[in-house]
Amino acid sequence: MNVLLHTCCGPCASACVPRLKEAGHKVTMFFSNSNLDSKVEYEKRLEAAKTLAEHDGVELIADEYDHERWLEEVARGYENCREKGERCARCFRFNLARAAEKTAALKLDGFATSLTVSPHKVSKIIFSACEDPKFMHEDFKKKEGFKLSVKRAAELGLYRQKYCGCEFSKAAQEARKAPRIALTGGIACGKSLVAKMLGEMGVKTIDADDVVHELIPLEERKRLAKIVFKDEKARKELEARIHPLVKKRLDEELANSGNKTIAIIPLLFEKHWDGEYDIICSVVSDRELQIDRMMTTRGYTREEALARLAAQMPVEEKAAKSQHVIVNNLGVEELRRQVEEFKDRYYGR
Ligand code: SF4
Repeated sequence: MNVLLHTCCGPCASACVPRLKEAGHKVTMFFSNSNLDSKVEYEKRLEAAKTLAEHDGVELIADEYDHERWLEEVARGYENCREKGERCARCFRFNLARAAEKTAALKLDGFATSLTVSPHKVSKIIFSACEDPKFMHEDFKKKEGFKLSVKRAAELGLYRQKYCGCEFSKAAQEARKAPRIALTGGIACGKSLVAKMLGEMGVKTIDADDVVHELIPLEERKRLAKIVFKDEKARKELEARIHPLVKKRLDEELANSGNKTIAIIPLLFEKHWDGEYDIICSVVSDRELQIDRMMTTRGYTREEALARLAAQMPVEEKAAKSQHVIVNNLGVEELRRQVEEFKDRYYGR
């Protein structure tokens, strides 16, 4: 049979071409990957596919690269899907439809896809993404296909990508390896101002307090505040209900938005969430400054300010437990300098 091999990349195809040839087919590779996030990545993967085609003595046809169309037809509305989810099923549909069209145009007998080599892809989902009768349900990961692809790609020196292909898979990959960073600190030490400055410097912020506000409407918060103020058991029950939801939301945000995000968690240490973050930055100030700010900007009496301080972990302790400390004692310009230093160190220049 004359078979078109939809080729997602050189390494995967390196396990498919010999198997199709062994089965007696004449193979034409078809490199069609508008899902790739950039032309640079497209060219790198195409180059690897060309090396393989030349080595294995098969023809290679490169499809046009139209990532804008892919974004519009496949990804719009599905940006936040996890890998192996609905966006990927749509992506398979898009690429396999291109392969079906090419097979028909070249009057070939059938087509298969190298996508089934990857252990990260579910062959059943790939097979159900195309109903064309010429689509051959070849599961190339069987008989150690992936192992073969790793061996051949190394032998031929083929470029092997670190992420599936689209910008969403790239961001997820970066987020997996990116450190999880949190900002905390003492009351009236300037966390909000630091978060605002980080936002202006391009770091995305997600605030645990804002998440609580999203989850519980204002009137409900006021009602609960009256109850939990006097009832320790009720407070613990409420926290047990709310905290997992807040954590989940923070985790999703950190996982989905790459390595340019910081979680703002005022009571991070008090809630014992510190073990979940790789880098913790604490904003601290001298105690008298904290008291002064609480009295002047929040209208507390000195006694009320002292009571608030007594209810929190001392800033010295927070600083000792942190990987990075910003000291807000010397005014806005000095604070901005320290925030910039923090940003450059953990988020790049
Ligand atoms: S993760 Fe891979 S399969 Fe899924 S949509 Fe992105 S490029 Fe396509």
